Amino acid sequence: MYELIKKDGMAKRGRLHTVHGTIETPVFMNVGTAAVIKGAVSTDDLRGIKTQVELSNTYHLHVRPGDKVIKQLGGLHKFMNWDKPILTDSGGFQVFSLAGLRKIKEEGVHFHSHIDGKKIFMGPEESMQIQSNLASTIAMAFDECPSSVADRAYMEQSVARTTRWLKRCKDEMARLNSLPDTINPNQMLFGINQGGIYEDIRVEHAKKIAELGLDGYAVGGLAVGESHEEMYRILEAVVPVLPENKPTYLMGVGTPANILEGVDRGVDFFDCVYPTRNGRHGHVYTNHGKLNLFNAKYELDDRPIEEGCQCPACRSYSRAYIRHLLKAKEMLGMRLCVLHNLYFYNTMMEEIREAIDAGNYEEYKRIKLEGVLGRK
Ligand SMILES: [Zn+2]
Repeated sequence: MYELIKKDGMAKRGRLHTVHGTIETPVFMNVGTAAVIKGAVSTDDLRGIKTQVELSNTYHLHVRPGDKVIKQLGGLHKFMNWDKPILTDSGGFQVFSLAGLRKIKEEGVHFHSHIDGKKIFMGPEESMQIQSNLASTIAMAFDECPSSVADRAYMEQSVARTTRWLKRCKDEMARLNSLPDTINPNQMLFGINQGGIYEDIRVEHAKKIAELGLDGYAVGGLAVGESHEEMYRILEAVVPVLPENKPTYLMGVGTPANILEGVDRGVDFFDCVYPTRNGRHGHVYTNHGKLNLFNAKYELDDRPIEEGCQCPACRSYSRAYIRHLLKAKEMLGMRLCVLHNLYFYNTMMEEIREAIDAGNYEEYKRIKLEGVLGRK
């Protein structure tokens, strides 16, 4: 159940109560695609860097090690030793971005595994069954994520099919949640809004899915090549149409600046690979812009990545040492950068919540933006 605690302009401060604990929103979900955060980060580490929600991927876990294996081992929470909320995405996005040859039909999608080329079929029912086996806290609906440059006619028929698929997801989820051997019978379902950059298609679709009374609503298919301004314009059109008393999730977004702007347009949930992917490449976020620790100017720099940061990297190690580890290809270098970046994102979300609570989000956003963009 979602509780809207406060609004500051369009920015929402909420709480989503789940069987795995309460999620304070706005929240940034930490992405662990294959039930692990890349960079040798354990769930014990996550407990020390303010992680509220871990995000795993249906398609990847279905392919390896297999959702049935995970079910036999007691579900994803037990498998990875994480008792807080987990969101699983539906596999839709990966089917459309990773998988080779594919065929979209009304019943679902036929495609080949990117690991071994094996033929796989996934439709709304299969995606719900896999996510039920994984027993995540929140399951995402199976949707088609069309190319953002798809023409209008294609987009219209794709979105209509996504709506039909969503109804099938809802029915299948209700059936699975009523079975006696389901690990998490309280699994929640979020629907996904699509429509590319066509504002009117998006708004019509948002109205239709809002009628289904789901646990939350995501805006998908953004941050895939359109400009930031276009993304903000779509959010301004779509979010007001989605139910205010349900969480809103902007999928796959983004930079700290994108998140600050998303919150300002009513978004509760975010996820993105940037902090982990950038961390693995020695790019770290600070309130004075992003640093590249491979840069020679850090060779003798004995300061932490960011003065005052309480993350495991900054509490104990210098820029010079982490730079040395990265140059020597030591795994610890990568790991420390990922931990710092996730801590930076999770702390920013905490500050965002405090700013909304205090009713000064606009002021906070202005100052934080200058910092993360390196203009301070
Ligand atoms: Zn740090």
